[in-house]
Amino acid sequence: MRIDVVTLFPAIFDGYLTQSLLHKAIVRGLVDIQRHDLRNWAENVPHRKVDDRPFGGGPGMLIQVEPTVSCVREVESEILSEGDQPPVRKILLTPQGKRFDQRLAEDIATSERIMLLCGRYEGFDQRVHDILEPEEISVGDFVLNGGEVAAMTIIDAVVRLIPGVLGDENSHQDDSFSRGNRLLEFPQYTRPREFEGHFVPEVLLSGDHAAIAAWRAEQTQIRTKARRSDLLDEPK
Ligand code: SAM
Repeated sequence: MRIDVVTLFPAIFDGYLTQSLLHKAIVRGLVDIQRHDLRNWAENVPHRKVDDRPFGGGPGMLIQVEPTVSCVREVESEILSEGDQPPVRKILLTPQGKRFDQRLAEDIATSERIMLLCGRYEGFDQRVHDILEPEEISVGDFVLNGGEVAAMTIIDAVVRLIPGVLGDENSHQDDSFSRGNRLLEFPQYTRPREFEGHFVPEVLLSGDHAAIAAWRAEQTQIRTKARRSDLLDEPK
């Protein structure tokens, strides 16, 4: 999968791209993540300014349409010039977008090429939305300072679904919200068997795989009912 991130703050991703699973996936060539500094498309050289005040007044600044559209078109044409390529799935991060969830992560994980547009300040000039017609995605009903953390959330959730990224291909099937059952995962334990009077459930030490599977299925139901009963009514 190739992921292009358009941002005013590419350095925010520095630590994130060089650690843990994501770093391994990059090194192993399972994902290629390219960052594009929107300021490189600024018309206002040398200040490299890409924001301006909103027409009609009001607080804050907006990211301008010209540099954004130029940047996206150039990056997209660069990607597509590499031969016979599938279309780029353009995603713009905004609190006004469709709510991101595991189903959407699974869907995005089937795309070979995605582009993530990170907003800042008061967001993008509306014409960015109208002209580029990106898919608009929100990571929740709250407002972040910028789209970078939202982009990292999407990258994190999507990349772990790419075949080969996790050691055990089935390990995300049981995860909460995942394809396995769309419910919450059962409780898990590791060594020691006892800590401060808290014991690991006997069944998990029994070696009886059928009994363990039955216990986990039951716990999944109990936990989901207690914490997220809305999930029990959703189609699987
Ligand atoms: N004025 C905008 C509004 O009320 O819809 C919010 C702008 S926010 C301060 C700046 C940028 O952060 C947005 O353009 C978007 O890229 C990103 N952002 C903030 N909250 C987000 C969320 N919940 N999901 C995705 N992106 C978000």
